[in-house]
Amino acid sequence: MSIKRRPTRTIYVGNVPVGGGHPVVVQSMTNTDTRNVKATVAQIRRLEECGCEIIRVAVPDEEAAQALKEIKKAISIPLIADIHFDWRLAVKALEAGADGVRINPGNIKGLENVKRVIEAAKAHGAAVRVGVNAGSLERDLRQKYGGPMAKALVESALRHLDFIVGDLGFENLKVSLKSSDVWTTIEAYRLFSEQSDFPLHLGVTEAGGLIPGTVKSAFALGLLLSEGIGDTLRVSLTRDPAEEVRVAYEILRAVGLRNRGPEIISCPTCGRCEIDLFAIAEEVERFAQKIEAPIKLAVMGCVVNGPGEAREADVGLAGGRGVGIIFRKGKIIKKVPEKEILPAFFAEVEAFLKETSAFKDSSH
Ligand code: SF4
Repeated sequence: MSIKRRPTRTIYVGNVPVGGGHPVVVQSMTNTDTRNVKATVAQIRRLEECGCEIIRVAVPDEEAAQALKEIKKAISIPLIADIHFDWRLAVKALEAGADGVRINPGNIKGLENVKRVIEAAKAHGAAVRVGVNAGSLERDLRQKYGGPMAKALVESALRHLDFIVGDLGFENLKVSLKSSDVWTTIEAYRLFSEQSDFPLHLGVTEAGGLIPGTVKSAFALGLLLSEGIGDTLRVSLTRDPAEEVRVAYEILRAVGLRNRGPEIISCPTCGRCEIDLFAIAEEVERFAQKIEAPIKLAVMGCVVNGPGEAREADVGLAGGRGVGIIFRKGKIIKKVPEKEILPAFFAEVEAFLKETSAFKDSSH
């Protein structure tokens, strides 16, 4: 099935195009203390390796805003400052070199102050995300709609756009309409995309831990993306942000919009399994996160059925009694002692990648 993307205009966050039919961009957010430049840079670099394409950092005070200068120098993906309440911090972050700011105009009090942020973004050639959030919606809209309903989120966003685009003439912006409720999120993005062509940043806010957060995000974001809605996304998880990046690419692969990194086929195990497959699968997942090529890897519990069941895989491993086997496209090519199974598998994957260096993220 090929997805017809909804037409949106192109904006730029640093050097990354967002919207206008460009590949859906994967974002994440650091969970280090932004004032700790060393830790924040280390985390961003790790996320870059996993495929994160835009990174957001919290800017809770002036010291954090200042730290952006050093952070920006040490990373190669666009840097977004996340601002709440204080317009001065947004201006300082932009002066420090942030490629964009995420503001919730609903909690930056006074149009004059929103104007100051927008003027600074214009002066520095930066992008702005108008991030409407169900938890901090304006009181009059909550009263009008009886709560943070989808229509209320959309009206809030359109109201801010009226001012920022209509009155201030600023257009390098994208919009998000987040709620922790899946259906409110879906409805809000659908409604907004019928009324505006600004690019949309997708997300379900406070989605939860690895399992509930992944399920909620896969459902809401997968559905919206399959309808052609969404130009960039962040999967929000109570976890290492590297997991957010991984889940985001899995969602994009599932809907067929991006194909970055290995697809891992692994069996659920059964009474025939003779190795510690759960631990092995985890190691393989960690190893795979740094590979960009869209190859297929298999991790199977037994020699009897494993290779046959994973015929589609480019390279696979399967456990046996005291031995591990390595296979390609369902054919066994090597047997090794069980404890050597992972190094042998990794070496085989690397050899395969060298032989087929033409593999690239199909969306680029
Ligand atoms: Fe069971 Fe082997 Fe199939 Fe895994 S590959 S589910 S261990 S039969």
